[in-house]
Amino acid sequence: MIPFLDLKAINEQYQEVISDELNKVLKSGWYILGESVEKFEGKFASYCGSRYCVGVANGLDALSLIIKAFDIGEGDEVIVPSNTYIASMLSISLNGATPVLIEPDINTYNIDPLKIENKITDKTKAIMVVHLYGQACDMSAIQLIADKYKLKVIEDCAQSHGALFEGQKVGSFGDAGAFSFYPGKNLGALGDAGAITTNDEELYLKLKAYRNYGSHKKYENIYKGNNSRLDEIQAAVLSVKLDYLDKENEHRKEIAKYYLGNIKNEKIILPLLIQEEHHVWHLFVVRTKDRDKLQRYLLDHKIQSLIHYPIPPHKQEAYREWNHLSYEISERIHREVLSLPISPVLSMEEVKQIVEVINSYE
Ligand SMILES: *Cc1c(COP(=O)(O)O)cnc(C)c1O
Repeated sequence: MIPFLDLKAINEQYQEVISDELNKVLKSGWYILGESVEKFEGKFASYCGSRYCVGVANGLDALSLIIKAFDIGEGDEVIVPSNTYIASMLSISLNGATPVLIEPDINTYNIDPLKIENKITDKTKAIMVVHLYGQACDMSAIQLIADKYKLKVIEDCAQSHGALFEGQKVGSFGDAGAFSFYPGKNLGALGDAGAITTNDEELYLKLKAYRNYGSHKKYENIYKGNNSRLDEIQAAVLSVKLDYLDKENEHRKEIAKYYLGNIKNEKIILPLLIQEEHHVWHLFVVRTKDRDKLQRYLLDHKIQSLIHYPIPPHKQEAYREWNHLSYEISERIHREVLSLPISPVLSMEEVKQIVEVINSYE
């Protein structure tokens, strides 16, 4: 069986260095907000080309703390793509604000900038872009709209660590960028972890307090904060793995290039790549009319695939109030998509085998 994602094999590549770093944390006797977190924050900010980075507990907290720090809440609206992973919307709802859904471009799966302006009201406070599946959104178009209406731009970079738009890393465009280091992401920890990047010093200081009970100094609390700290162990692992992120993303790109050049089957729609540097291929998502049939066929040929995602957020029970609405492009995407294996440890032999199987699909 070719697995969709072999996390064990990915992490075993670095077993020795990771063990050494974990031992150092163990022996330091200091496990929360110490040297490892500070070191990772510095490394990750510089990797992203941002002035600041704040480590937090997970990607959802990264998003929701940004919204909280911007004082976006009850009565406010935030623009978000209709086909994103539900965490993007939850971060808005959890703050009491209203997510306003915008349909994506069917070819890139990213928010369609042309559809944003007529959904802007006097309650709109921010645009949350999601660089979905690893491909950067058109940040020039987004920034123009945000500037015109004086809106914050929040980047959900949970799937796009290292992607570039016009030579600049995602996470460094907006007012703040949110990252997840969930184990399966391009940069993954050995548990939950997340981070926020920003160039705004005031926001940075606020977020450092917000992740730690609203405290900027021990036992002095200036905000009603959360407990959402990145721990020393995850930070140590992430510092090691960050050194290999570009190399791993290169391998993903090589696989994607092979898929794009060699999958030839009229039943299958390949993802549209705008520019090579824009995409770090967190997922390689194809579309086909009878998606479940393709998935079964692949499984019969010992190839595991997954669906990202089977149910659009507006049809989830959690958002009952949206269930009657229809977002046709999003619904079509959720009906037709299938993600093929792509990972830093998938061999080109396996990739060739997958292509052969897909090309004989009828
Ligand atoms: C994974 C993911 C998140 C949430 O990250 P967690 O660390 O699981 O909380 C948010 N947005 C998108 C697009 C994601 O893929």
